[in-house]
Amino acid sequence: MSPSDPVVPEDVSGAVPAGRSEPPGTPSGRDPLRIVHIYPHLLGTYGDAGNALVLGQRARSRGIPVEIITVQPGEPVPAQGDIYLLGGGEDAKQTAAAHELREDGGILVAARRGAAILGICAGYQLLGETFLGVGGAVTPGLGLLDVRTGRLEQRAVGNILARPAADTWLPDLIGFENHGGATTLGPGAGALGYVTVGVGNGDGRETEGAVQGVVFGTYLHGPALALNPAFADRLLATAVGDLAPLDDLLSDRLRHHRLTEVLPASARAGRVDRITALLRGRKPTGASGATASLSEVP
Ligand code: GLN
Repeated sequence: MSPSDPVVPEDVSGAVPAGRSEPPGTPSGRDPLRIVHIYPHLLGTYGDAGNALVLGQRARSRGIPVEIITVQPGEPVPAQGDIYLLGGGEDAKQTAAAHELREDGGILVAARRGAAILGICAGYQLLGETFLGVGGAVTPGLGLLDVRTGRLEQRAVGNILARPAADTWLPDLIGFENHGGATTLGPGAGALGYVTVGVGNGDGRETEGAVQGVVFGTYLHGPALALNPAFADRLLATAVGDLAPLDDLLSDRLRHHRLTEVLPASARAGRVDRITALLRGRKPTGASGATASLSEVP
């Protein structure tokens, strides 16, 4: 154990604070899926709170009872959650959140149990080994992803499109990024995808995000799970197994608009010019969660 290793408390009881959206035990006979939404007041830029709503709604639509547990700073982080969500935030809030989460230890116990975790931007960076906190100080993260975050030369702000890494089995990842951090992956973490428009990790290898087991990090705001419902289902599946398909007409339309109008415009505006007019005219497939893939676009 190195000095930077997190201290994990032995207590795994995971007391659940106020904020339940439904009482435990439901007519469906199964315990609710516990979605733990971490520090939304510190980590919640660009609508990241929507990720909890999307996960909850996609589970309920399939008859799965849901309990969304919102944890504020100073409250214990329950260790018995199924899926943990952390959003984005400014450097000072990110530093404070990382410190509190390390002290609390609940999310570290949950990770050892195999709970799924999704960190967005600041939430992504603080899941890693180190990031640059207030005043550019190298600050320890939670050590749940083998990534380290330094600084980009120029802040990355704008729309982002990433071709997913093959083993993620996800369609193209779309969102909005706004970060000064540049994240480098160590051998323990895989890239979530490869940037087609935008900056992503900014590591010079065109990677975006990271995945290590069922711990995921990404620079995608939007909120990410509203724009990428297949990603939401991937997280849900870690907790509940196979999922029935949903009618995703609305999110397919939203994705189609982003893919055919917004992202090509971003590319033309000079962010990255490898996306072409070939994007125009593509239609959504209509299949659940799956939209026209841009992976083969040169
Ligand atoms: N403070 C971090 C950065 O600028 C994360 C920003 C964010 O979460 N949007 O890199």
